[in-house]
Amino acid sequence: ENEELREMRHALELTARLYHHLLLHEEYGRVARQYLESRQVRMETIKEFQLGYAPLSDHQLLFRFLKRRGFQPALLEKIGLITSRSSPSMDRFYDRFRGRIIFPIHDTQGRVIGFGGRSLGNQEPKYLNSPETPLFHKGSHLFNLHRARTHIRKKQQAVLFEGYMDVISAWQAGIYTGIATLGTSLTEQQAKVIKRNTDSVIICYDADTAGQAAAERGTDLLRKYNCTVKIAQMPGKMDPDDYIRCYGASAFQEEVLAGAMSLTAFKLEMLKKKYHLQDEDDRLKYLTVAIDLISELPLAIEQDHYLRRLADEFHLSLDALKEEQRRIKLRKK
Ligand code: ATP
Ligand code: MN
Ligand code: MN
Ligand code: MN
Repeated sequence: ENEELREMRHALELTARLYHHLLLHEEYGRVARQYLESRQVRMETIKEFQLGYAPLSDHQLLFRFLKRRGFQPALLEKIGLITSRSSPSMDRFYDRFRGRIIFPIHDTQGRVIGFGGRSLGNQEPKYLNSPETPLFHKGSHLFNLHRARTHIRKKQQAVLFEGYMDVISAWQAGIYTGIATLGTSLTEQQAKVIKRNTDSVIICYDADTAGQAAAERGTDLLRKYNCTVKIAQMPGKMDPDDYIRCYGASAFQEEVLAGAMSLTAFKLEMLKKKYHLQDEDDRLKYLTVAIDLISELPLAIEQDHYLRRLADEFHLSLDALKEEQRRIKLRKK
């Protein structure tokens, strides 16, 4: 590894330490600590994840700190810690992160490669991440993988979340196998990385439309790499962090994670929400669409499995459902 990369790593490491120190600093970090407390992040968690705070008041705080330690502005810009405006003076340099909670992001070996930063209030953007740098590639790293890895291998299962706070809340709830993408949808590269550690993934994305669509895409991608995928569902528009805060750790384990289902079961559940099943006409419509969905499954044994479940659920005979499946196929021709 060349000298420049080593320097970059050193600067990133010092930055993580500085921001962590500032968060814990009596004066500087107070608002940030209050924010985290309001989100029920515990002190031991702050330390475990080395969470930090980049103060708002001083736009060159990090810049001066690192310059004093001999780092060149050009290098700091390359790793996304500072940005510059076109002006000849030293005043043109700005710390990238200001007024934000800092989430250090590590590679699998536990080395800091970048940061996520969350605004304390409603300031946009809500999250600001490090840009692509020689060390930080948001499409190939996963948040928390270096901590979760041994747990994932032991359990032979990973839980994939959307956000940093979901991973952190899950950790506080005793789920140590949580990882998250870095503000993008799951990539091929990340799917490969996951597959290297386990064959089995629970996708636990937000219960909103975007999250649900992303869960389906993620499932397809992970399957391509021969992972078994289940999708965990939360009620309403909650995300895992909301859910844990609202219902607690054991409900999250027992209701959400333990209730995770296959993509087909998940799609059937989603579909069900569009119908009033008490209404006879609507129930029949649902059954027709459900049978159609099941008919798209590649394996006959899979189709059989879900038709049986449907038959049980609606107290119908499997033969009747298979007959209906035949008729639907004929009508389509
Ligand atoms: P919080 O609970 O702090 O509001 P969240 O994790 O629930 O945050 P979401 O809006 O669900 O946030 O987004 C999920 C993830 O997507 C975030 O954790 C972050 O990594 C990323 N993200 C969200 N908004 C942005 C943004 N404006 N720019 C870049 N990444 C973002
Ligand atoms: Mn979301
Ligand atoms: Mn969310
Ligand atoms: Mn959230």
